[in-house]
Amino acid sequence: ETLAAWSAAARIRWTSFGLILTLAGIAAWRWAHQTRLRRASEMALAAREAEFRLLAESSSHMIQRLDANGVQVYVSPAAADVLGIAPAALLGRSIVDGLDRESALKVGAVLHKLRFGTRGETLVFKRELPGGREVWLEVAFSRMPTTADGLGGFVAITRDITRQKQEQEQLDALANTDALTGLANRRAFDNRLRLLTEGTGDRAAPLSLLMIDADKFKLYNDTYGHAEGDVCLKAIAGAVMQSVSRREDCAARFGGEEVAVLLPGTGFEGAMVVAQAICARVANLGLQHSANQPWGVVTVSIGVATLPAGPGEALSAEALFHRADKALYRAKEGGRNRVVADET
Ligand code: GH3
Ligand code: MG
Ligand code: MG
Repeated sequence: ETLAAWSAAARIRWTSFGLILTLAGIAAWRWAHQTRLRRASEMALAAREAEFRLLAESSSHMIQRLDANGVQVYVSPAAADVLGIAPAALLGRSIVDGLDRESALKVGAVLHKLRFGTRGETLVFKRELPGGREVWLEVAFSRMPTTADGLGGFVAITRDITRQKQEQEQLDALANTDALTGLANRRAFDNRLRLLTEGTGDRAAPLSLLMIDADKFKLYNDTYGHAEGDVCLKAIAGAVMQSVSRREDCAARFGGEEVAVLLPGTGFEGAMVVAQAICARVANLGLQHSANQPWGVVTVSIGVATLPAGPGEALSAEALFHRADKALYRAKEGGRNRVVADET
C-alpha cells in the first residue's frame, strides 16, 4: 500500500516511455523508407536523364530546348555539324538569331501557334551559315509540358535536308526539260500557259505566244539524215534561247520540230521584235539546207499572238494557241522564213 502510489506512477512513466520509443521507431523507419524511395527515384531520374542526353548527344539531328520566349537553354552537339556553330555559342540566344527576316517571321509564327494549343509543327527554310554556305533545314517544333523547373517552352529538332532538296530540284528540272534540246518540255509549257491564262479576262499585263516551226524539215531529214536533223534542232533551240532572255519567258519544245515561246508581260510590238530576232538568228546560223530554197539554209516560220493587258474576254490556253498556230500557218503560206502576227 505504501508503494502503491509510486508503483502506479512508475507504470504510467514506463508506459509513456514505451509509447515514445515505439513512435520514435516508427518515425525512424518511415524516414529511412522515404529516403530509400527518394534515392531510388533520383537514381531512376538520373538514369533517364543520362539516357535522353545520350540520345540527344549522339543524334545527327540538332536538338534545341527553348524557354517560353524562344531562347535556347540547351543545344545538342550536332549544332557544330548542322550549323557550323559551337552549341555553347547559341545558349542564351533567341532561336531566330541568324535567320533571314522571312524565316524568322515563320519561326515566330510557329512558336505563337504552339503557345495557343498546336502540339507540333514542321518548317523548311534556307539558312546562310557563318562561312557563307547556304543549307536547307527542316525544323520540327513541339511544345513542352511545364516541368518542375517551371521551364515548359519548346523543343526544336533540326536536320539538314540540303542534299534531298538538291536531288528534288534536279528531278524537277529533268521532269520539265526536253532531253534533246534542253528547252522546257511540253508538260512544263502547258502548266505555265494554264497558270498564265487562268482567271478572268482582266489581265494586269499582256501575254504573247510565239509558235516556231522549222521550214521543210522533213526534207532536211531526207537529205542529211535523222541524226543531223537532231543536231540541227539543237542549234535552232540554241538560237531561240539566245533571243529569249527574260527570266519569266518560257521557251519549250512543243512537238517534233516546233518550239513555242511564252512571253508574259510582253505586248504585241515586243513579241514581234523577239520573233524577228529568232527568225534572223536561225537563218544567220547558216546551216546548209539545200532543199529549202531560195535560202539554201535552215530557216523557221513564226506565228505570233498577243493578249493585251486590261479588261477583255477570258481566254483559254487553247484559244491563244489556236491564234498563234493560225498565224504560223499564214507564215508558211506566205513563203516561210518569216514572222506573221495574228490579226484577230
Ligand atoms: P514545213 O515547212 O511546212 O513545216 O515543212 P516540214 O517538212 O517541216 O513539215 P512538218 O513541220 O509537218 O514536218 C515535221 C518534220 O520534222 C517531220 C520530221 O521529219 C521532222 N521531225 C520531227 N521531229 C523530229 C526530231 O525529233 N528529230 C528530227 N531529226 N526530225 C524531226
Ligand atoms: Mg511541224
Ligand atoms: Mg516544219
